[in-house]
Amino acid sequence: RIAGPSGLVIFGVTGDLARKKLMPAVYDLANRGLLPPGFSLLGFARREWEDQDFAQVVHDAVREHARTDFREEVWQQLAEGMRFIPGDFDDDAAFEQLRASVKELDASRGTSGNYAFYLSVPPKFFPKVVQQLKRHGLADAPEGSWRRAVIEKPFGHDLASARELNAIVHEVFDPDQVFRIDHYLGKETVQNILALRFANQMYEPIWNRSYVDHVQITMAEDIGIGGRAGYYDGIGSARDVIQNHLLQLMALTAMEEPAAFDAESLLAEKLKVLKAVRVPDDLGRHTVRGQYAEGWQGGKQVRGYLQEDGIDPASTTDTYAAVKLEVDNRRWAGVPFYLRTGKRLGRRVTEIAVVFQRAPHSPFDSTATEELGANAIVIRVQPDEGMTVRFGSKVPGTSMEIRDVTMDFAYGESFTESSPEAYERLILDVLLGDANLFPRHREVEESWRILDPVEDHWDSHGRPAQYASGSWGPGEADEMLARDGRSWRRP
Ligand code: NAD
Repeated sequence: RIAGPSGLVIFGVTGDLARKKLMPAVYDLANRGLLPPGFSLLGFARREWEDQDFAQVVHDAVREHARTDFREEVWQQLAEGMRFIPGDFDDDAAFEQLRASVKELDASRGTSGNYAFYLSVPPKFFPKVVQQLKRHGLADAPEGSWRRAVIEKPFGHDLASARELNAIVHEVFDPDQVFRIDHYLGKETVQNILALRFANQMYEPIWNRSYVDHVQITMAEDIGIGGRAGYYDGIGSARDVIQNHLLQLMALTAMEEPAAFDAESLLAEKLKVLKAVRVPDDLGRHTVRGQYAEGWQGGKQVRGYLQEDGIDPASTTDTYAAVKLEVDNRRWAGVPFYLRTGKRLGRRVTEIAVVFQRAPHSPFDSTATEELGANAIVIRVQPDEGMTVRFGSKVPGTSMEIRDVTMDFAYGESFTESSPEAYERLILDVLLGDANLFPRHREVEESWRILDPVEDHWDSHGRPAQYASGSWGPGEADEMLARDGRSWRRP
């Protein structure tokens, strides 16, 4: 589907996200013919730029980061619709100038009053920008047109702040005008969880407590915090990753089939699962947090978190977090979902592993199956997007020996077209008004309901465990699973 007449206003256009992801995504959409001819891109930031300076910045970002080939004619058409508004978020004159630019573009490019406002700004400015949009009449769509707000993460830092932010945002925008970004939901592999489960017959019958032993959801990064100390310290890995990305992955893995593939039905089912998620009582035994210490990674010695620039040496911020959750419903009762994330781990990988129970009986003698693991279906979200099924197979030879083998599906091999970037998909969906892949405020609040007690527990219980950079996290996390008779996968 192609977006209708519209424009996109990016606040915080000099930021990292705008340059690396948003600008390239807009170009890639234009290059694929998915934007309307008069599409307009407006940038708002504290620089004394003219429109052409802004266009040059976008040009450089596109040349460096776009996924598709650079085509001069596509670029020219896009560049003609670029406008820049210099200003601070407090600056009323700048918002008036934005209003004038929007009017001018409606007339000159036929944008028809349809605008999405993308808040690619530090979270503390979300309320301010939203209120300024209202104050200057930009949030109200003229008759027959639309206005939408796109809000980046993190959406609050606990349940109370998320509620407060929701209240402010909803004073200005109706719930269906608000698009909260969880860029994981824009990834092909994540959308494929639903295709896999609900377009096929062979997975759903075994996707429950009768066959599944447990589920492991991992998002591991091999990098540290880089230059993002100011953002990261005090937030930490659980708030940064588990609250949004991992709980969304868990919801998609555990939810019931939606009545239809639309935003309302998806929300209803995801919400039901999130509401059924139980945080264990004994948080000391069922959660682990860690901090990376120095170590070796990629053949280089790297610093520990507490030695990073801008980090307080007494910081208790977690760079690794693991939690055990259960889902109190008929399908999943008693099946643990282990969620973990961390920086400076052995490898960059995001995956969902559904690990099955052992066969109830084996006719082979025990030496034949000594090396056999449990069956597993692993959905690889990134990198090497695809899926693996692990099962036992006879080793060739005269004796009966059974070992694990895998059957692999890789996007790169089965499909010739490369996957769009998550932001490409999500920006297009915003312009189309398709909210399927955006968490609603009730999901966000429910996710904080799950995480808050964990954070509270950590706040009052000592310091995070240290783990060597390049390892797979603190030993305490291994012990947590070992107590349940299980172990983490080494992806
Ligand atoms: P950033 O700090 O690099 O950029 C923020 C932008 O806001 C900059 O252009 C800055 O100049 C502008 N800004 C700050 N204060 C301002 C003011 N008073 N008036 C006008 N402009 C002001 O942040 P980023 O990394 O680009 O991230 C943007 C948003 O996206 C944040 O909410 C962040 O949490 C979120 N996010 C970023 C990433 C990422 O990979 N960078 C990933 C996920 C989410």
